[in-house]
Amino acid sequence: MQIEREVKPILHRQKCAACGYYTIYRAIPAGDKACDSCTHCGHTVEMAWFADLKSAIKNRERMLRDMSEMFPELNDLKNPGDHIMLD
Ligand SMILES: [Zn+2]
Repeated sequence: MQIEREVKPILHRQKCAACGYYTIYRAIPAGDKACDSCTHCGHTVEMAWFADLKSAIKNRERMLRDMSEMFPELNDLKNPGDHIMLD
């Protein structure tokens, strides 16, 4: 019997390489890959799914949390489609 992997999308904040905004990204597991897409412009990157993917994403979150001390606007990124330009 095969154990189904949890396939809940992971929402996380990230600077989008395509639109240049800080946006909400949604990582959706698909087999041994995950599609990570910008909820603002739809840019999608494929990445290998690995056991620690969730903690890798949490690390990025931690980086943004540190940044949000300098840029409190980052805390406004909460829902899919939210986007902020910083410079
Ligand atoms: Zn984007």
